[in-house]
Amino acid sequence: MPKLTFYGGVDEIGGNKILLEEGNTKVFLDFGMSFSEEGKFFEFPLLRPTNIEDLRKINVIPEIDGIYKNAGITISYEKNGGFAVNGTPEERKIDAILLSHGHLDHSGYLGLVRPDIPIYSSVATKKFLKLRNDINKNWAAESSQESFNTMQVSETKQIGRDLTIQRFDVDHSIVGASAFFIRTKNKKIVYTGDFRFHGYRKKETEFFRDAIAKENIDVLITEGTRMSRTEEGRALETEEQVFEAACEIAKREKGLTIYDASPADIDRVKTLWRVAKETGRELVLDDKKAYFVLYLNHNEPEKLVDNLPGINDFKIFLSREKLKKTSKKFAELVFSGIDPFVETFVAGRNGHQRILLSELDPTEKYPDAIKIPGERFLWGPLGREELLKNPEKYILYTSNGPLTLLQLIPVGKKIKGSYIYGKAEPFDEEMEISHDKLKNWIDLAGLKMEYAHTSGHVSYEDLKEFIKIVKPKCVIPVHTKNAAIFEKFGAKLLKPELRKSLEL
Ligand SMILES: [Zn+2]
Repeated sequence: MPKLTFYGGVDEIGGNKILLEEGNTKVFLDFGMSFSEEGKFFEFPLLRPTNIEDLRKINVIPEIDGIYKNAGITISYEKNGGFAVNGTPEERKIDAILLSHGHLDHSGYLGLVRPDIPIYSSVATKKFLKLRNDINKNWAAESSQESFNTMQVSETKQIGRDLTIQRFDVDHSIVGASAFFIRTKNKKIVYTGDFRFHGYRKKETEFFRDAIAKENIDVLITEGTRMSRTEEGRALETEEQVFEAACEIAKREKGLTIYDASPADIDRVKTLWRVAKETGRELVLDDKKAYFVLYLNHNEPEKLVDNLPGINDFKIFLSREKLKKTSKKFAELVFSGIDPFVETFVAGRNGHQRILLSELDPTEKYPDAIKIPGERFLWGPLGREELLKNPEKYILYTSNGPLTLLQLIPVGKKIKGSYIYGKAEPFDEEMEISHDKLKNWIDLAGLKMEYAHTSGHVSYEDLKEFIKIVKPKCVIPVHTKNAAIFEKFGAKLLKPELRKSLEL
């Protein structure tokens, strides 16, 4: 009999880590970070966990053998400053991780996992995680690219002796999201990951739904984010409505239009690109967003994402970075008279910014990088001046509103324009606090605050319909704080409990 154990995603939004065992075969469905549990103890950026022991102390990762890097090895320190390595490495006991998508609440602890455990995902998810790591180093989330075993849509693979898995694309607010159909010896199990029916890739979710509807599914493990998050009162129903609303605001606005959305949501870039074309504004992407958009398809044998804007379709707003004042470079640059603007330099920049700037980089650190001519960048005081002088010409996409406004607002002046908020509204205390800070920045800038957003998650009505069509024998809700509401959906409800097992 197959067995499921829930190490996260129970009575919380995210943190999915679900162990499925059948005979000798063990797989995890996602290995995500729990924002709420980590948030109880840590605070970004002042207090962060820095190794696996820190996470074990707060009891947020499963205590099981054969899954973590270097487990079984201990280091003992000697008084003279030396150390010795003891123990023998554990054997691998987990056969695979099925990764639904790259959001941290599903992928955030993959960096702890031994690299010889294969990760099954879409090609786009593998690439997304690589790009995210170029942007933000995150030790707990950084998985080895070699661990990935990518699957096409509908492709089937055998895992261990007892399982076969099939992957499907689903629509979600990130590229490459997958659902999995798993056959054990005598049960059929589906894991939806996070999904929806109201974005541009609605057809992909429908294809998945129709494929599994033919299979007499025994167990449906599904997300239920919006069954508990009712506070998204201002959210629009579809991505198309986000386009329409943002168009209307950008048309009405005679000043700058700033749009604030998640860095991971690539479909929202497509929406903003459409808005830019429709309203005759030029699209400006912040450097993180630009990096994802330009590099997702770069050097891939097949296009991973369709209809993305190319480098001639937008400009890049490059966030300022400071050279250390004591550095020789700084002294040379500032006092040589070559460049009076201390922000407009390549030296001192790293990671994705350095890659974006490779064409202007005399050191030619990244010879394979996309060549971006200097005029595509809006950076330094001149770049900001251009945005503020001709605000009606631009629509600026930021994934960090306060940081962008901090850099953009001139001392003692206002910015003429609208600020469109395109993220989920705050649903806990911590988010409430940062949302208040954002509002203060918007007020300080003198911008008008507007809303145009739709959720990455399935709505109540769509979920009800989905369950009605798939007709699973039982439903296990995860990634929700309201499992009880699933009673209403007509299938037998199995409520998971944290760190407890369900025999199927
Ligand atoms: Zn997600």
